[in-house]
Amino acid sequence: MQFKEPDCPAVKGFIETSFVDWKGCLASVLFLGGCNFRCPFCHNRDLVLNPGGLEDVPIEYIVATIRKYRAQWVDRIVVTGGEPTIHKNLYRLMGLLKSEGMKIKLDTNGSSPSAVKGLVNDGLVDAIAMDVKGPLDRYSRWCGINVDDRKVQESIEFIMGSGIDHYFRMTVVPFLHREEDVYMVAAHLQGAKDFVVQTFRPDITLNTAFSRIRPFSPDRMNQIKANVSDIMAGESVRGKEVRPHLSIAGKTDQDNLYS
Ligand code: SF4
Repeated sequence: MQFKEPDCPAVKGFIETSFVDWKGCLASVLFLGGCNFRCPFCHNRDLVLNPGGLEDVPIEYIVATIRKYRAQWVDRIVVTGGEPTIHKNLYRLMGLLKSEGMKIKLDTNGSSPSAVKGLVNDGLVDAIAMDVKGPLDRYSRWCGINVDDRKVQESIEFIMGSGIDHYFRMTVVPFLHREEDVYMVAAHLQGAKDFVVQTFRPDITLNTAFSRIRPFSPDRMNQIKANVSDIMAGESVRGKEVRPHLSIAGKTDQDNLYS
């Protein structure tokens, strides 16, 4: 089979098998370079800022490898980034993977609802994981650039109503987020199939100042996750109602960081 590599976005990383990138499943993982966000806590710094400096993984190699694993009943692949939807020819890559009989999970930041809708409506996506960076009313703060939060909201609504397997996830970054921010996102996502709260990893960060921030302790993260679970189930946190889009008055930990 011949492949015309220029038709597909350049693949900048490939994990043959992973247990952690598709919940409950063994899957291959394919990384595309570049992103339209600049989240200061991002741990894919080179992939986001300097994708051209990373070697391409040949499509032929990827196809040969997934064929090998398909013969062993591994028929899932995660397409992640960076942000895959910034690539106009993403659908060609997804189509190629589909033609190889793969089930595909798309990881996205939700900034391009039209791309997400197109891929889903064309049957090229079997599952979606969307990162939600924080409450929508201050979205540019979490993403490091000006972001049209209406598009993020459009993606959330589409994914939740699509019937497709999905989950949302948020990385909790001390000083950037307050606990209340996580609960506001959880309240906003009530009705979603799942909302996964992730611990911040300070080892490599897009903004090097963030590598000095310590993540919340495991105990505190477990408490946050328990509260999120209550909110997703429609219960209040510690007896206080959490309202979506609640504006936070006063100084935040982030204000303290930058002041
Ligand atoms: S964490 Fe932010 S900057 Fe990094 S890849 Fe995801 S959306 Fe892009």
